Amino acid sequence: IGTETGTGSARSRLTVLSGPSGVGKSSVLAELRRQQPDIYFSVSVTTRKPRPGEVDGVHYDFVDHEKFQQMVEAGEFLEHAEFAGNHYGTPRRPVEEALAAGRPALLEIELQGARQVRVAMPDARLVMLAPPSWEHLVDRLTGRGTEHPDVVERRLAIAREELAAEKEFDEVVVNADVQSAASDLLSLMVGPRNSGD
Ligand code: 5GP
Repeated sequence: IGTETGTGSARSRLTVLSGPSGVGKSSVLAELRRQQPDIYFSVSVTTRKPRPGEVDGVHYDFVDHEKFQQMVEAGEFLEHAEFAGNHYGTPRRPVEEALAAGRPALLEIELQGARQVRVAMPDARLVMLAPPSWEHLVDRLTGRGTEHPDVVERRLAIAREELAAEKEFDEVVVNADVQSAASDLLSLMVGPRNSGD
């Protein structure tokens, strides 16, 4: 068990949050942002089309395939992956800058990306946000109403695989309610380090 309790440790303070589509990652992160404004939340680049209410540069940087490919080739991504037919990537530079400035940083990304970060930055802490039950997740994904039924099916299939990868994560936070999940995540981010870190 380490003794560090501050938020200022640079390289070890990268947290990766993954979890199946529909588990409530955005609500938990909005709450976390409210609880701890000092955290740097990475803004991903994606080729997915914006959903109603999503703002370019805030929720994602929305780009076309050509621009995304250019960024891949220029080595601008810390990790990138394809998910349900769209591409997503984490710009490397802002994350490195936040960590160098001593800010805790958080990436909300899917499983393949989490695995890439595990390799690129072995100090990163991988956290899985899990639903209280599988039924819970199905209800949420079906009820969202923003995606075509085929897309929902596809996301559920991926969700099953993602949840099966739980063992690859350092921690699992169950999203039974948003406030507690955000507090749990926050204590993982700023609390004492695990032994073996
Ligand atoms: P959505 O389309 O629902 O916003 O996101 C789909 C999935 O892509 C989610 O699991 C989300 O965590 C993941 N995702 C978002 N940004 C990134 C990223 O930069 N890299 C990777 N690998 N996954 C991402």
